[in-house]
Amino acid sequence: MRNTRLTESILTVSAICVAVVVLSCNNRKGQQSDIVKTDADMVFPKGEKVTSNNFTGTVWVNYLIESDTVHNVNIGSVTFEPGARTNWHYHKGGQILLVTDGRGLYQEKGKPVEIIKKGDVVKCSPNIEHWHGATPTDGMTHIAIGTNTNIGGAVWLKPVTDGEYHSGEKQ
Ligand code: MN
Repeated sequence: MRNTRLTESILTVSAICVAVVVLSCNNRKGQQSDIVKTDADMVFPKGEKVTSNNFTGTVWVNYLIESDTVHNVNIGSVTFEPGARTNWHYHKGGQILLVTDGRGLYQEKGKPVEIIKKGDVVKCSPNIEHWHGATPTDGMTHIAIGTNTNIGGAVWLKPVTDGEYHSGEKQ
């Protein structure tokens, strides 16, 4: 009898423990999804959808740092869905790209399209025309650092045509 009660008590306590663990796991999951939603595996949340005509396809931006009187840089995490890319453009003060996720494309005017992937660093020299974006099949996220913003920011040019975008595939 005692043993049965003891067993029942142990089972009850065990059940409560399991319930607590399950609940706390659910809570943690719930909190994560509240904060970052589908961004759980990203370094930074992908931010807001870009509505600018300076991009083709679906692009997201999370502005991280705005330049001020002390720091002549602006920093944003930019996420390109497959097929998405910037227009042709150049940066008066230059730009550095840190690829944090996926696979993408980068091209400077007159040069072949290059594949860039997570962990790659790209230096865009001042006033050099270029574009960057995802590959047709993979998304790509990079942190874009606009340098020397006191000299000037991005100057936007024409969209990258489908022909230009896919030119790397013929090689
Ligand atoms: Mn650029």
